[in-house]
Amino acid sequence: MNYNSTRNKSTVVTASQAIAQGISEEGGLFVPQSLPKYSLEDIKALAAEDYRGRAKKIFADFLGDFTEQEISESVDAAYTAEKFGSENPAPISYIESGNTKMSVLELWHGPTCAFKDMALQILPHLLTKSLSKTYSGKEAVILVATSGDTGKAALEGFKDVDGTRIMVFYPVNGVSPMQKRQMATQKGGNVSVVAIEGNFDDAQTGVKKIFTNSDIKAKLAENNKLFSSANSINWGRLLPQVVYYFSAYCDMLNEGKIAPGDKINVVVPTGNFGNILASFYAMNMGLPVNKFICASNSNNVLTDFIKTGTYDKQRKFYTTISPSMDILVSSNLERLLYHLTDGNAEKVAGWMAQLSGEGRYTVDEDVKAKLDALFYGGFCDDENTQKTISELYKEENYLCDTHTAVAVNVYKQYVAETNDTTPAVIASTASPYKFAKSVLEAVCSDELPADEFAMVEELSAKTKTPVPAPLASLRDAQVRFTLECSVDEMPKVVLESLSIK
Ligand SMILES: *Cc1c(COP(=O)(O)O)cnc(C)c1O
Repeated sequence: MNYNSTRNKSTVVTASQAIAQGISEEGGLFVPQSLPKYSLEDIKALAAEDYRGRAKKIFADFLGDFTEQEISESVDAAYTAEKFGSENPAPISYIESGNTKMSVLELWHGPTCAFKDMALQILPHLLTKSLSKTYSGKEAVILVATSGDTGKAALEGFKDVDGTRIMVFYPVNGVSPMQKRQMATQKGGNVSVVAIEGNFDDAQTGVKKIFTNSDIKAKLAENNKLFSSANSINWGRLLPQVVYYFSAYCDMLNEGKIAPGDKINVVVPTGNFGNILASFYAMNMGLPVNKFICASNSNNVLTDFIKTGTYDKQRKFYTTISPSMDILVSSNLERLLYHLTDGNAEKVAGWMAQLSGEGRYTVDEDVKAKLDALFYGGFCDDENTQKTISELYKEENYLCDTHTAVAVNVYKQYVAETNDTTPAVIASTASPYKFAKSVLEAVCSDELPADEFAMVEELSAKTKTPVPAPLASLRDAQVRFTLECSVDEMPKVVLESLSIK
């Protein structure tokens, strides 16, 4: 199984090259040349396995130049009961409300309480193995600019993984108090965390400049190191997400919620389009899916795209209570366009050039027709997000976070419009405790305590739900990282932390 670039079909790389490189030289994303196809019998066989067994089978079909043992080691190291709270890292809560059946796929039981753990717990293992095949013996220096969730999930994933160092930069005033505390108290011998004077874009620009600075790259090479990325467009982050859609279907089969071959709808709170794209790959591999429901917050660029066929990033940017979806350029959409044009790299490259030049592009009728057949797009503002949290809690006794609430709200809009009550899998992407303030406001009308941890305790007392252990332990954790620097100082800080002159 090899991979092409979405912008150049003559680019052909192996799985380990795709993962080690992250992005293709001309800026395209790596996509599999073909997909494995699973029959119903294959899916039933997967259903007889546990999560790790399902993951191993699916990984083996995509990672052509990995040995069975390498895949096994990676999966076994990533999805442990210790890290995810139980043997199934992605359990389902079933909610039947009116005529709708929602299977809430909880993807946030990992060490940082957000769904990014599902990919970032395994990526370091896939990446170090990929690097040993392609750039043997070099230490990988992972640089991450984060607006919150990714940084912490990457730190936890790479913590004490041999052959790696990780440095995370976050905007000093751009993350929540809980996110800041999660990062500042990070454990591990190979991690550094630095606050940047500036916003997320400044941090991101600073990291990109270091990645492409030839002086710094040469210095790293002299010291037997190289830069690498844990970015969400890396194939090594997308592939692990395909697994949990199959796993959810298997669990629903085993629990008698569906019969073999029954279709499901998939509902995903969407930002960079990675999570929902993984379910699209799953369908193309044989998972019976009827409709993909793409849920956005007020940054509804994808809703408009799905409705009109025009992607237009020139619009007001909103800061919302579902911040991980505050995004106007959904990078992984490029992969969907590639597949919907049957691999027309020239066309995709043209649209991407228009997007960066003019800020917009319009797909052709053929692609629009395929979008219409498969996707539904909708959005939900902050007020309705909180209303949904409140209703779900009061009527169904289920507490969800702000991102998941966006998905539930858009799903209800979809059912109201279409009367389609196909069983729905709702991707639940964060623990409610990660966004305690907005969730507490939604479920309780009393005055809120000022301190973040007091809010967490109050939410737990009010809803009689437990605070996830990784968040509870933060209160008394020791702060290890207090360094702040300007964007200009970032290169110096990187070299110093690597003890390179
Ligand atoms: C990253 C994130 C999302 C968006 O996922 P994409 O794969 O980027 O679409 C949604 N919810 C939460 C909590 C996230 O951290």
